Amino acid sequence: MTTIHNYINGTLVPPAAGNYLDNYNPAIGAVYSLIPDSDHIDVQNAVVAASAAFAEWSSMPLDKRSAVLMKIADLIDRDLSALALAESIDQGKPVKLATVVDIPRASANIRFFATGIQHFSSEAHITGNEAVNYTTRSPIGVAGCISPWNLPLYLFTWKIAPALAAGCTVVAKPSELTPMTAYLFSKLCIEAGLPKGVLNIVHGLGPKVGQAIVEHPQIPAISFTGGTVTGKRIAATAAPMFKKLSLELGGKNPNIVFADCDWEKMLSTSIQSSFSNQGEICLCGSRIFVERSVYDRFVTEFVAKTTLLTVGDPLDDKTKIGPLNSEPHMNKVLSYIELAKQEGGTIMCGGKRVTVEGRCANGYFVEPTVITGLSPDCRTNQEEIFGPVVTITPFDTEEEVLAFANSTHYGLSATLWTENLTRTHRMAAALKSGIVWVNCWLFRDLRTPFGGMKQSGVGREGGWEALKFFTEAKNICIKL
Ligand code: NAD
Repeated sequence: MTTIHNYINGTLVPPAAGNYLDNYNPAIGAVYSLIPDSDHIDVQNAVVAASAAFAEWSSMPLDKRSAVLMKIADLIDRDLSALALAESIDQGKPVKLATVVDIPRASANIRFFATGIQHFSSEAHITGNEAVNYTTRSPIGVAGCISPWNLPLYLFTWKIAPALAAGCTVVAKPSELTPMTAYLFSKLCIEAGLPKGVLNIVHGLGPKVGQAIVEHPQIPAISFTGGTVTGKRIAATAAPMFKKLSLELGGKNPNIVFADCDWEKMLSTSIQSSFSNQGEICLCGSRIFVERSVYDRFVTEFVAKTTLLTVGDPLDDKTKIGPLNSEPHMNKVLSYIELAKQEGGTIMCGGKRVTVEGRCANGYFVEPTVITGLSPDCRTNQEEIFGPVVTITPFDTEEEVLAFANSTHYGLSATLWTENLTRTHRMAAALKSGIVWVNCWLFRDLRTPFGGMKQSGVGREGGWEALKFFTEAKNICIKL
């Protein structure tokens, strides 16, 4: 059984108190590794190391800093298969998905920011003939980065790469539910020659390790991805300390289908946007709204395609739906399916836990589930379920579907299916979400600002936004 270590001051170390937590493989429902149950002492050690490393890392010539990061990205690519396997075992996602999406996107994140920093510039303004103003952007210091379990290495690197590229040193905490790829990543950092203390990874529970990072006075910026409830707590701690905060939170995203769409493309992409990674992607479209004239056809064809999705061992290439990430999470998803029934919903397919034969007999599998007949304002349609569960609701007009789509507290992403250009612009402008995908889903350009509106988040990541977040701007005004 692997024992995971913290990565502090360039070395792999046990937690100061010597305590460990069980790490489960959700496909078999059994413990397969141990993770440090770290506390504020480990965080303090990490902050000391990060503070000591800051002067050298932040003043290192950009090409040198970039080269170390590029080396780490190369090592991720070299170890693609091993990392994909580790992520599949840790999180439950089909290994194929980890191989094709998660791990390649992790190295892409690092390359993007490692090269981006070499093109990052600040501004100068000539104020009439009276003054010159120029802005400097300096790395803010030790950054705190906290990531969730659903896309473990991808989101971990999405947080730390801009911080490191910008010249910050980092104290990072991956989710305690999926620590393995961050642990393997720390070994790659050592191999790549990342100077000691530049990145420190402290494993453990959110309320212990995460909270200690958020409230540490020597960490001026917190970049967090996770649930909205946790985000509120982090904001409540960090705001009175005047910390910079980037919060990427939950979603309840609408997927809107008009009758004039490219039907086949819409149908196959909607299956992906509903059930990829067992629906455990913050950007999944869990509320599908369909124009009434094609509603019956959509339900029939969508349900038929859903029932063809293979639920099974995530290490099997045929598997489309792996286990949910943990037993409590599986129970939460199943409880929402029960709620949907109480709220008057009809289960068109799925709705139950699945027993997969063989080694996965005790895994946390739930059938992909399609529900109709619910009102858009019921709890099932308002709260984030974060599993393989979607609802389908008919609509009559643009105004009506906009009201449905915008009716939740969330505003992370929306998907729109139509070939009508003017409607596209009208709807895209009116949808209250940080990104609107038109006739596609999950297409990313890392240069674009990424983040949510309303309770889906505060701040924007991606591109210059992320690099700016980890720097502090200063304006210098020289009177001519
Ligand atoms: P979570 O909020 O439970 O945990 C996220 C991280 O925060 C974990 O590392 C956890 O240990 C830590 N944490 C918990 N309590 C903390 C505290 N008091 N202080 C500091 N850190 C603490 O979320 P999760 O269940 O791991 O992830 C699923 C959620 O993340 C979903 O809501 C999903 O929508 C959201 N998410 C959002 C995005 C996005 O980009 N907006 C991306 C992926 C996931």
